[in-house]
Amino acid sequence: MAITRLKEIICPNQNCGYKGSPKKVARGNALVGIILLLFFLLPGILYFMFKSGYRYICPQCGMQLTADV
Ligand SMILES: [Zn+2]
Repeated sequence: MAITRLKEIICPNQNCGYKGSPKKVARGNALVGIILLLFFLLPGILYFMFKSGYRYICPQCGMQLTADV
């Protein structure tokens, strides 16, 4: 799995103040999407449409950052 270098962020958590690359995590659970797709086609497609992509969290405190960082 390739490590993507992201631009440096500053954590919005004042108690943390982490500065560096954010941690990238998958937004949705692919397995849930596949199960939905197998049993209920439309909700499965919708699940993938809305849950696809990634979100970014602070690797130090786990605070979620804006998706377009
Ligand atoms: Zn933080």
